[in-house]
Amino acid sequence: MSNPTVETILDKAVAGQRLSSDEALGLLESEDLLPLGQAARQVAHRHHPEGVVTYIVDRNVNYSNVCSAVCTFCAFYRTRGHEEAYLLTREEIYEKMDELASMDGRQVLMQGGLHPDLPLAFYEELLSDLKARYPQINLHAFSPPEIINFATLYDLSVREVIGRMHEAGLGSIPGGGAEILVDSVRKRISHGKCTSAEWLEVMETAHELGLRTTATMMFGHVETLADRVEHLISLRDLQDSTGGFTAFICWTFQPDNTPLGSRLNYERTTSHEYLKTQAVARLVLDNIDNVQTSWVTQGEEIGQLSLLFGANDFGGTMLEENVVSAAGAYYDVPEERIRDLIAEAGFTPKRRTTFYELLE
Ligand code: SF4
Repeated sequence: MSNPTVETILDKAVAGQRLSSDEALGLLESEDLLPLGQAARQVAHRHHPEGVVTYIVDRNVNYSNVCSAVCTFCAFYRTRGHEEAYLLTREEIYEKMDELASMDGRQVLMQGGLHPDLPLAFYEELLSDLKARYPQINLHAFSPPEIINFATLYDLSVREVIGRMHEAGLGSIPGGGAEILVDSVRKRISHGKCTSAEWLEVMETAHELGLRTTATMMFGHVETLADRVEHLISLRDLQDSTGGFTAFICWTFQPDNTPLGSRLNYERTTSHEYLKTQAVARLVLDNIDNVQTSWVTQGEEIGQLSLLFGANDFGGTMLEENVVSAAGAYYDVPEERIRDLIAEAGFTPKRRTTFYELLE
């Protein structure tokens, strides 16, 4: 039997009522996984009664790994001058884009580190060249820490930076770099990266300028359960005012090859904790329509199971992944397998665009 308090909270969420911070915390403190999953599935069904689970054919392009910040959870970045530091040439980027175009891909997720000295024109020309060459592919690029880095380097406002990028071809902004939107947590795991308020400012400004964005959460490191709740409530509050988030994606800290992982001798956060947190996020984020699974970090079985814990989207096919794979987690799942996993779970798989328009 589940705790009656938890039952009451779940009944409230299933009935469509908003959960408070205390109620969200009560759910995260519960170890009774199945009732949480059932409630999250019912709420996901209310958002998507047609029984479809979507995914997008996309790829990553990490244009550079040079970064001036230091995040102890990150195995991807290199300092400028490091022998493994790189900046992709335009031809290398075109080659990756050609591969995506040949598969009728509709989105490129383009992110880098916080490069200390590339001129703004580099990014504007990159966007406009890609937009001219691949008009059917949405440029989903530059997470909030990169936008803040541009604003700082070029002495521009966040609005000016996003406006210029939008004009150059930027189609939407990925929600990376959120980790946990609580500054006391951010200070313990990152140096030289944007604050919670700055992350939210980028998203609010983007939404005001007509760009849609995603929202993310990377958990299972130094944060408390209350910090996870604060993060979710910040996203919900912003969505109330702008409505600009298309989707929420959460994943667990991947410790391999990271200073934080070795210092704290971390073990991977369990699948139980992942499924529970995703289910609670679905119940708290009553104003965000789509929840994506993170099969890239969790593997295909848990990715499939997460469809019964509040997710309604399988994310991207990710022809290439460089960030979490550097931290020891990367599952390569081809498109046909993604379709089979969705169908085996009892849903109809459908390709989509960045903006959740169905393509079949
Ligand atoms: S997470 Fe991003 S900002 Fe932090 S070190 Fe890695 S690349 Fe740089």
